[in-house]
Amino acid sequence: MPETNDKTLIFGRVRMTSVLPLAAVLVALFVVLCILLANVTAAGFHGHERSRAEALRLANLVSTDLALGDEFGVRNAVNSRYPVYIEITDQNGELIYANGTVGQDNPRYSVPVRFDGQVIGQLRAGPLVAGRMAMPAWGMALLVLFAVIMAGSIAMMFANLIVRSVTIVREDIDTLEAGRPLHEDAARQTQFMELHQLNDTMRRVMESRRREIEDLRLVAFQNGPTGLPNFTALSQYIDRHLKTTDFGHPMAIYRLDLDHFDRACESFGSDVGEALLREAVARIRKEINELADRELVESSGFFLAQAWADNLFLVMPNIGGRGDASAVARALRSAFVAPLKVENHDVTLGLSGGIVMAPEDGTMRTDLLRRAETALRAVREDGKRGFRFYAPRLDRVASGRAQLEAELREGIENGEFVPYFQPKIDLHTGQIKSCEALARWRRPGGRFISPGAFIPLAEETGLIEVIGRQVLKGACEQAAGWLREGLAMSVAVNVSPLELRNPDFRANVLSSLTATGLPPAYLELEITESVAVDDPKAFQEMLNPLKAMGVRLAVDDFGTGHSNLATLSQLQFDVFKIDRQFVQNLENESSSRPIVEMILAMAQSIGMETVAEGVETPEQARFLRKRGCTYGQGFLYSQALSARDFPAFVQQWEARRRRRAAPKAG
Ligand code: C2E
Ligand code: MG
Ligand code: MG
Repeated sequence: MPETNDKTLIFGRVRMTSVLPLAAVLVALFVVLCILLANVTAAGFHGHERSRAEALRLANLVSTDLALGDEFGVRNAVNSRYPVYIEITDQNGELIYANGTVGQDNPRYSVPVRFDGQVIGQLRAGPLVAGRMAMPAWGMALLVLFAVIMAGSIAMMFANLIVRSVTIVREDIDTLEAGRPLHEDAARQTQFMELHQLNDTMRRVMESRRREIEDLRLVAFQNGPTGLPNFTALSQYIDRHLKTTDFGHPMAIYRLDLDHFDRACESFGSDVGEALLREAVARIRKEINELADRELVESSGFFLAQAWADNLFLVMPNIGGRGDASAVARALRSAFVAPLKVENHDVTLGLSGGIVMAPEDGTMRTDLLRRAETALRAVREDGKRGFRFYAPRLDRVASGRAQLEAELREGIENGEFVPYFQPKIDLHTGQIKSCEALARWRRPGGRFISPGAFIPLAEETGLIEVIGRQVLKGACEQAAGWLREGLAMSVAVNVSPLELRNPDFRANVLSSLTATGLPPAYLELEITESVAVDDPKAFQEMLNPLKAMGVRLAVDDFGTGHSNLATLSQLQFDVFKIDRQFVQNLENESSSRPIVEMILAMAQSIGMETVAEGVETPEQARFLRKRGCTYGQGFLYSQALSARDFPAFVQQWEARRRRRAAPKAG
C-alpha cells in the first residue's frame, strides 16, 4: 500500500484541512454577531414595548385629567420618563392633546378618548416612527466590522484557493513523479495507482527494450570473451572504408593468428584459452598504442576485430603503404616474444599473419578477407610462423591444395599409401639390421609422390592419422614377413605429432603388432623432439607401456628444435637421429661439426644410439664413424626402396660387405 499524503485531498482543489479552521473562525464570528444583533433588536423591541406602555400610561393620565376637566393639569402632568410622543384625539379625531417631545427618534402614538375621559380606541403607533427598531451605534459598528471581516475572509479564501490549487497541482505532479499516491480519495487513488503502475510498466518495458537492443547490438557487433567487434562489425567497417580507399590511400587488412594457441587450449583448458586470447588482444592493443606514441604509424583508424574463435583481424585504413604495413606486422610479432601470463602460467604464443592491401589485392571485402586467409595459410605452410603479403600466385596454390586434399582422401580409400624402406648402416660393422619406413603415395598409373608434397596438408587436414596407420601396418607387415623369411630387420616408423595426441594411438600400434605378428623389439617409433618435450608427462603415459613391451623410441630430426636435454634424457629414448642439415654441412659449415660432435658425445655418455641422417659422402661417413656415431642413413648407401627391392638390396649389400671383410679376416 503506497504512503498516503494527507495534505493533498483532491487533485487541483483546495485541501479541506487547511480551510476548516478559517471557516470555523468565520462561523463563530457570525454566531457572535447574530447574538449581538438579536440583543440589539431585542433591546429595540424592548424599548418599543416600554414606549408603548408609557404611551398608554400617558393616555390614561390625560384621559383621567380630561374627565376631571383639568386641561392644564393634564398638560403638566405629562412627565414622560421616556421620550414618547403621544397624541390624544377626541372621538371625531380632533387633536385634544399632544406632548411636546415628538422627534425623529421618538415613537409616536395616538389614542382616541371621550371627553368624559374614557379611552375609546386602540393606541396606534404613529406613521413616522412606528415599528422602527432602535439600533445602538456599537451594534452598527459591529455589523460593519462583520461585513468587512466576511468580505476579507471570502477574498482570502479565494486567494488561498488559487494559491493552494497551484501548489497542490505542483505537489501532485511531484508526488506522481515520486510514485506516491496523490490523496486518500479511493477512486482517485485507484486511478492514480493504475496510472502509476502503467507508468512503471512502461518504464520497465522501455528499460527492457533498451537492454534487449543493447544485447542485440552486442550480439550483433561484439564477441563476448574479448569484447572485440565481431565479423558483422568487421564487414561493415571494411565496406565503409573501401569507399575512400584508393592507390593513394591504401588499406591493409591483417589476418592475425596466434601460434600454438590450439595446443595451449588443449594443455590448459578452454578457460585459460579464453584468458590467453584476452591477454593476446590486450598486448596487440598496447603495441598499436606504442607505435602511435612513437609516431611510427597513424593508428586512429585501426580496427581490431575477432571474426570467430581465435581469428583476429586488424584493419588499417589509410596506411602509408606496404612498408608501414610490414612495420606494424614486425612490431606485433616482436610483442609476442615475451610469454603471456595467465593464471600462474607463462605461455609463449607467437603471432603470425597474412596481409592484403586494398585496392591492390582486391576491391571487394569478401575477396580481401579470403586472400588474407590465403596469405596466412602460405605462412603456415612455409615455416609455420611470420607475416606474409598476399600474392596472386598463392591463389593458384590454394586451388591446387583443394584438389590435393580431394585426391588424398581418394588415395586413402584406395590404400595408395605404402612404406618404402631406407636402410640404416651400422657404421662400425657395415651391417644392415634396421631401416626406416618412409611413406610413398603411389598414384594410379604408377606415379609416386614424396611425403614433402602431401604430409603438411595431411597434417593440416588430420588425414595424417589414417595415412600413418596405413604406413605403420604396412611396415609391420613387411618386417614380420621378412623375419619369417629369415631377414631380421627392425623397422622405424615416423609418427606425426597429431597421431601422438590421439588417445587411440597406443591401441593402434598394439593392433598393428598383434595383427602382423611382429615382435615389439623390431619396431621403432620416430618422434620429433618438440612433441616429446612440450608435454613430457602425456608423452610418457602414452608411450611407456609400449616401451615396456620392447618398442624402441627415437628422437627424429634431433638438433632442429630447442630441446631441453635434461627432459629428453628422462624420456627414455633409445636413439637420437641427427638431422640431415648438420650432416650435410659437416664439410662446408664449421658450425655443424661442434654440434654433431657434441650430440654424439652426449649420446655416448648416456648410452644412447645415434643415427646420422642424409649421409651422402664417404667423408661424412668417415667423420661420423670416427666420432662414434652408431648408424648412417642416406643416399651414400641407398634411397628408400620398395618392399620388393629392399631384401634384394640387403642381400647384395651383405654379400659385398662379406667380400670386403673376407680378405681382412683372412
Ligand atoms: P625423415 O623422417 O627425417 O626422413 C628422412 C628423409 O630424408 C626422407 O625424406 C628421406 O628420403 C630423406 N633422405 C634420406 N637420405 C637422404 C639423403 O642422403 N639426402 C637427402 N637430401 N635426403 C635424404 P622423405 O621420404 O621425403 O620424408 C620426408 C619426411 O616425411 C620424413 O623425414 C618424415 O618426417 C616424413 N615422413 C615420411 N614418411 C612418413 C610417415 O609414414 N609418417 C609420418 N608421419 N611422416 C613421414
Ligand atoms: Mg624419420
Ligand atoms: Mg628425420
